[in-house]
Amino acid sequence: MVKFKKLTVPKEGKRITVKNGKLRIPDHPIIPVIEGDGIGPDIMRACRRVVDAAVEKAYRGKKRIVWFDIYAGDKAMDIYREVLPQDTFNAIKGFIVALKGPLTTPVGGGYRSLNVTLRQTLNLYACVRPVRYFQGVPSPVTHPEKMNVVIYRENTEDVYAGIEWPKGSKEVKKVISFLNQRMGTKVRTDSGIGIKPISVTGTKRLVRKAIQYALTNKRRSVTLVHKGNIMKYTEGAFRDWGYELAKKEFRRQIVTERESWIVGNKEANPKLSLEDNARMIEPGFDRLPKGKQRPIVKEVKDCLDEIWKTHGNGKWKKKLMIKDRIADSMFQQVLTRSDEYDVLATPNLNGDYLSDACAAQVGGLGMAPGANIGDYVGLFEATHGTAPKYAGKDMVNPGSLILSAVLMLEYLGWKEAANLVVNGIEKTIVKKTVTYDLHRQMKGATKVSTSQFASNIIKNMAA
Ligand code: NAP
Repeated sequence: MVKFKKLTVPKEGKRITVKNGKLRIPDHPIIPVIEGDGIGPDIMRACRRVVDAAVEKAYRGKKRIVWFDIYAGDKAMDIYREVLPQDTFNAIKGFIVALKGPLTTPVGGGYRSLNVTLRQTLNLYACVRPVRYFQGVPSPVTHPEKMNVVIYRENTEDVYAGIEWPKGSKEVKKVISFLNQRMGTKVRTDSGIGIKPISVTGTKRLVRKAIQYALTNKRRSVTLVHKGNIMKYTEGAFRDWGYELAKKEFRRQIVTERESWIVGNKEANPKLSLEDNARMIEPGFDRLPKGKQRPIVKEVKDCLDEIWKTHGNGKWKKKLMIKDRIADSMFQQVLTRSDEYDVLATPNLNGDYLSDACAAQVGGLGMAPGANIGDYVGLFEATHGTAPKYAGKDMVNPGSLILSAVLMLEYLGWKEAANLVVNGIEKTIVKKTVTYDLHRQMKGATKVSTSQFASNIIKNMAA
């Protein structure tokens, strides 16, 4: 049993547990909730009402969330004299699934961002950002409705690992002299240096999560987004390890894009030779020296030997497609052909840029949900900040937090309730009763408060 210094666990409800590697969700799970600072209380109040109403409507009392208030940020400071008390970590770890409002990061005083500290301490290595369009939301692109992706961004390594030294420092001088004298490089001595580690461990656990999500939610593809043409041993390795994991752990359920070409070529022409098949999948095959052609022919043969029986004769079309794209091309593709993409698995930096670029296409951060997930623990949270100037005004858009709660409901396997919330939001926006942020961009809309917006979502949920 989890012990707390200053928290009282609700008497009703049960803990979510893990058995045989799977989450076991009781009908009345206890879910810790951090209200958050600034606009946190406004949006959390709205969010809890919407979620409770959807769960009630979907399961007619059979299921219910028992919320368990825990503290971080300003409130924690009042109660514990610290912004992130051990009780909070213990509660999230112990109860596995939690919901969180935005938190102020105190300026100065040597604090790291509370959000980053939570992610790192709880080892929440996958940052999940679904991006989809709600009809009627103002958008800068012509076909925002084509966007419906879920980004799985690696959360712990890459250039975010925090390994860097400023120009001229003792450390940077050491690193540069090591590189130039021992490794034969020519780094300018007036450089700052940052290190980009990407590991097999970090990559595989992230890609595994992305594939599991795609399979559970019947998504069509997982795209590995990398810049491996330039950074071969980090981003290129991310791609290679991603494919390796997909083939090793999910062989029967997946097909890689390249395999789909090989199998498809044989289906279209059963008499096709291995060499001709290799010629079709590799542009410029004929210009390659024999030594480079041979491994491609072998790749074709190995692929057909391995998967023809399980994937041939069109069976591959029903499998989850694993593909990869170079990051810069991906930024074009999400603008021009966003409907060809589904789940995206990315190293940390690519995912950071891509999440906001995609969110901007469908109405910006006010409607962008997020979650940080580890092996089991899931912390679901709004992606915007505390917007202090609007605190307590019952004015801002609770959409980001409510959609994060939708992700949480999906994580619990409570799809019916999740769908009701989405349905309520869709209708509310189509009816143009929206909070100030959307109102100022929508012609003919009616401006409503945070709490009215929540009431409208509840009213609009389909029976
Ligand atoms: P912010 O709180 O996200 O607010 C910036 C602007 O975004 C707001 O002024 C508002 O724009 C708009 N906005 C944000 N949330 C909105 C909502 N729910 N509905 C409608 N509009 C919304 O960013 P910030 O001012 O840079 O950061 C303030 C504090 O939040 C800082 O202490 C920062 O450390 C913290 N923060 C926390 C998190 C987190 O906990 N996950 C994330 C980011 C920042 P308009 O003024 O144009 O209406």
